[in-house]
Amino acid sequence: VAPALTVALGDRFASALPEMALPWQAAETPDPRLLALNEPLAAELGLDADALRTPEGLALLTGTAVPEGARPVAQAYAGHQFGYYNPRLGDGRALLLGELTGVDGRLHDLHLKGSGRTPFSRGADGLAAVGPMLREYVVSEAMAALGIPTTRSLAVVATGRPVRRETLLPGAVLARVASSHLRVGSAQFARATGDLDLLRRLADEAIARHHPAAAGAEQPYLALYEAVVAAQADLVARWMLVGFVHGVMNTDNMTLSGETIDYGPCAFMEAYDPDTWFSSVDEGGRYRYGNQPLAAEWDLARLAEALLPLFAEEQEPAVALAVEALGRFRPLFDAALLAGWRAKLGLPEGLDDDVARGLVDDLLALLQANRVDLTSFCRGLSRAARGDAEPARELVLDLAAVDAWLERWRAPAPDADAMDRVNPVYVPRNHLVEEALTAATAGDLAPFERLVEVVRRPFDERPGLERYAEQGPEGPFVTYCGT
Ligand code: AMP
Ligand code: MG
Ligand code: MG
Repeated sequence: VAPALTVALGDRFASALPEMALPWQAAETPDPRLLALNEPLAAELGLDADALRTPEGLALLTGTAVPEGARPVAQAYAGHQFGYYNPRLGDGRALLLGELTGVDGRLHDLHLKGSGRTPFSRGADGLAAVGPMLREYVVSEAMAALGIPTTRSLAVVATGRPVRRETLLPGAVLARVASSHLRVGSAQFARATGDLDLLRRLADEAIARHHPAAAGAEQPYLALYEAVVAAQADLVARWMLVGFVHGVMNTDNMTLSGETIDYGPCAFMEAYDPDTWFSSVDEGGRYRYGNQPLAAEWDLARLAEALLPLFAEEQEPAVALAVEALGRFRPLFDAALLAGWRAKLGLPEGLDDDVARGLVDDLLALLQANRVDLTSFCRGLSRAARGDAEPARELVLDLAAVDAWLERWRAPAPDADAMDRVNPVYVPRNHLVEEALTAATAGDLAPFERLVEVVRRPFDERPGLERYAEQGPEGPFVTYCGT
């Protein structure tokens, strides 16, 4: 007998920020079927996995029946999408069910995506298809396993309701867990209402949930902003180090917590090239790999604008203080990126930063010129550190250039074991993700489940998984399946 489901969901967001919380309920699901359940995550949240598999559990995971006291809401937010401001975005196909306390004692949002139309749907259907929800599941699991701050996926439940895209697709609801869903766009929304008290409460909530040290600072709101700048600089550096391309770095898709959020047309770059992007709707490549730091900085500038009245209450000249705080993004990002690269290359601490930077810059130029797979090459380097340079070397057409670089790199005696802990063998390569989602959409979950198992232990090389470690064919583009 499956244990009864006991879940206590708070309504902290709805209580603190009622102006941004629209009570709403999920659409009915004709035939709910569990496609994926994240048992390790359920355990971290103190949820019984077997109870989640019951009809009652599926009702929670699709929002059709919620625990006593829960107050599901659609969250309001604004945002710049591809540079253009939209004053009213909000959860058009999502709901915040409430907050639950994990076994770590911390609060986590339990949120649904694909749960039906809301007043924020703007003519769209409020639904999600199985493929994109499984993409979010597998890629966010990979990111978590890589040690990159991210929202997590608790479950994907097929609804039994078809979704009309270019073709009819099976529909699904994703149950997502996040340390919160406060976004840059949330601050923009609060700011645009002109209600300073609302903006203050939003900032207080971000401080309490994510950046508590700011509360003790002389200028808490400026300190909050600085903390978000620092968290995002660190986050985007981590993306760059594994070749992650987010795809839609709009201000509504940037969290105040510093977690990666909203896995849409995202993918891992294979051949190193800063001009890489995967989204068919990103016509100019605004969110290409190499532009990600710039895009983050741009979004953070919008956050400063939104918070400016709070800075001004603390100290003038507020604009100058905000500009100075934003100015820390670049040095923080550069430092995090260099530190990450030093670890990837196994460089000893004593090695001068300028020498390290020279090694990194020359390596990236080499990888780009030879269209070398970033993940394979970096992992191959630890083999080289152990004396077998062939796995890395054979990936590069220009042997003279790679030999010269390897010669320089080997000089400072890299630490192979440390390198293996930061250079993944397995990332969810785009062709493998596509293959898994195509099969799942047709009813075969086996390739998806296998891929999840592989990317959950990204640093642990295992026999028989060679195809998961190899570069795939070029393309296809990930198409944007949001609306
Ligand atoms: P995104 O680009 O995924 O961040 O989504 C931007 C906005 O579009 C958000 O307000 C979403 O809630 C909304 N949205 C995306 N897809 C849909 C959909 N199928 N139905 C309703 N709203 C949607
Ligand atoms: Mg979004
Ligand atoms: Mg999205």
